[in-house]
Amino acid sequence: MTKSAYQIPESYLSGAAVQCCEKQSGHNTCVLHHRCRPVPIADITHGDFQQTLQFAAFRRQQLQGIGIAANQLGLSYQFFLIERDPANSRYKTASNNEVYIPLTYYINPIIKQVSDECVCLYHACLSCVGADRGLVATYKDIYVEYFNEKAEKISRQLSGWEAIIFQHEYNHLLGRTYLNVAKEYITTEQLLTNNDGKVPAPRDVTVIEDIPIMIPREWIGMRIESITDNK
Ligand SMILES: [Zn+2]
Repeated sequence: MTKSAYQIPESYLSGAAVQCCEKQSGHNTCVLHHRCRPVPIADITHGDFQQTLQFAAFRRQQLQGIGIAANQLGLSYQFFLIERDPANSRYKTASNNEVYIPLTYYINPIIKQVSDECVCLYHACLSCVGADRGLVATYKDIYVEYFNEKAEKISRQLSGWEAIIFQHEYNHLLGRTYLNVAKEYITTEQLLTNNDGKVPAPRDVTVIEDIPIMIPREWIGMRIESITDNK
């Protein structure tokens, strides 16, 4: 039997997600640092791919992230998922304790349009365990297109936490993490100490010259595989 293209490498079936500075040999070392390739639309409803989607959702829950991208599980394909139940303590702030985001799969996503307004947040990541949190700006509202798990093409506007997490995960599919973007870092302990024991909520920023943006504006509207410059 041939191995499915969507089979998650055995080393990532349990334990941590693929780590950013991982020094193991083999393709998994750099899977986080390559642009991911599109999923053929005909494959989406195929059993192998469906199984992989379900497993990714299980791993997201197990690792207690809000989102997880395919290459964090060792697969260089353009998909990620976002899900948050109110009990999830990740990025817990005074304002988002009750935020519920239903499980949503984003396959071959494109960011079509973005707002001028941005927000900034100290990002953390399942693939950067032990690294400090990094301050990165993201667009406040985004208009995106993607395929869902039924291979239906969806167009939607995202805002709030969904927009922030979408841009974080999309950045993974570009072969980057927030560590490739942020200039200002802080430990979680320091962040909590500075803010009465809570992670600060996303903050509106109108001028972002000092805070780097997760997805450069010139990449908006482009397909991931056609973005060739390296910012
Ligand atoms: Zn991440």
